[in-house]
Amino acid sequence: MNPPTTDETLSALDPSPAHLQQLLDEVGQRLAAFVATVDQQPAQAAGDFDPQASWLREPIPETPSAPGELLDFIFEQVIPVAFNSASPGYLAYVPGGGLFSSALGELIAATVNRYTGKWAAAPAAVELETQFLRWLAELMGLPQGSLGVLTSGASMSTLIALVAAREKYLGDHLLEGTVYYSSEVHHAVIKAARVAGIPTRNLRPIPVDTRFRLRADRLEEAVRRDRKEGRLPFFICGTAGTVNTGAMDPLAELADIAAQHDLWFHVDGAYGAGFRMLPELQPLFKGMERADSIAMDPHKGLFLAYGTGALLLPDMSNLRRAFSASGAYLPASQEDDKHLDFCELSPELSREWRGLRLWLPFKLHGVAAFRQALGEKRRLAVQAWQRLSLEPDVEIAAPPELSLFAFRQRFEGITREEENRRNQALLERINRSRRIMITGTEINGRYFLRICILHLRTHEAILNEGLDLILAALAEARKRF
Ligand SMILES: *Cc1c(COP(=O)(O)O)cnc(C)c1O
Repeated sequence: MNPPTTDETLSALDPSPAHLQQLLDEVGQRLAAFVATVDQQPAQAAGDFDPQASWLREPIPETPSAPGELLDFIFEQVIPVAFNSASPGYLAYVPGGGLFSSALGELIAATVNRYTGKWAAAPAAVELETQFLRWLAELMGLPQGSLGVLTSGASMSTLIALVAAREKYLGDHLLEGTVYYSSEVHHAVIKAARVAGIPTRNLRPIPVDTRFRLRADRLEEAVRRDRKEGRLPFFICGTAGTVNTGAMDPLAELADIAAQHDLWFHVDGAYGAGFRMLPELQPLFKGMERADSIAMDPHKGLFLAYGTGALLLPDMSNLRRAFSASGAYLPASQEDDKHLDFCELSPELSREWRGLRLWLPFKLHGVAAFRQALGEKRRLAVQAWQRLSLEPDVEIAAPPELSLFAFRQRFEGITREEENRRNQALLERINRSRRIMITGTEINGRYFLRICILHLRTHEAILNEGLDLILAALAEARKRF
């Protein structure tokens, strides 16, 4: 029997093994071509979206299409029209990755479709995921016995942590609970508090110091005041790597305050926590080991494709208290709390075998490879900061603690609004090259550009090219005004 060709359609839902192999080859060829050319592709092309494209109005496809044609369509017409978050020039927001070994794990997990909501349904697969969580908790410095749960991202991790803390400290007294975080916090924390039922009037953004770190003295004042006035302080969120400037909150001081006032101490390490794996940066994370929960995003700091976050905790009973539930139609839960039923640790029941996409890369590459890559990103960020610091009219919000910093161009004798507009124009000019993509933000009412170096494919050559582009745009603005 000849293997089928890609022109052959798939009228049956389950391809023959030979056809399956053929499909994988077709996909493999296109992925290899994508990766081979990724450094030549534009760093962003979302603006190329055509709202008139004919495929947007296609009717329901009742009959099969040729796989080869569909793959061409996806790779040629859909994938390019985007921020290219797989490209080395992607220095925007907090870059994700697209680690191929992780994609392999996802492909395997989806094909064999192991159910990991309950331990009993796939004990070995769940244990493999648990093993990864144990490794990650250890890398983050949490005490022995710490575990956690893999989520879709830090937003979900934060929500889970907040609900666990709420259950532990507030019970039914939701409306009195107060939550503390720095004024530089990621909006995901505010959203999580809202979803967890905490009234907006009970959210306490705490001022930051000149390096954008939460001021512990002001935090303590706020906690005391709320308690005196009869409210129930219960949750402190410290950030390890803020999204605007990469600031590291004073985690050890926050841990002290949490211990002294009996509060839940959460660390938002969505962007930054991965850097704790670098021995030279560990001192910055002092205090994180005392957290009640840490949110970190493998889809940022471990270079994975979007869709994988992690929540790590020293005491899993806090999650069980909040999320345990069961039905007679389900496999039995584990009595022994060493065996995790993931459905008792988060709002989810059915879930994919999320762990394989992390366990496989750790084993295949070894953790040293991740450390080395993170060290490179850190070095490149320091280089970029040093080079831009030499420009007399460039103001840098704060030096990079990890791998991101914000900067803007200053002009004499104009209003703040005009200066903001000029910096916005600067960003547009830089991004118009499509070789790199950076983003902007507002800090204290001023518009800043930010560079975040975290993509697995960002190496020295593209960074230097990007810096040349930035320096040329700065020079042009100087000439023009
Ligand atoms: C990205 C990010 C978040 C949100 O994480 P998601 O994975 O996008 O849900 C929260 N906090 C910080 C500091 C972040 O960088």
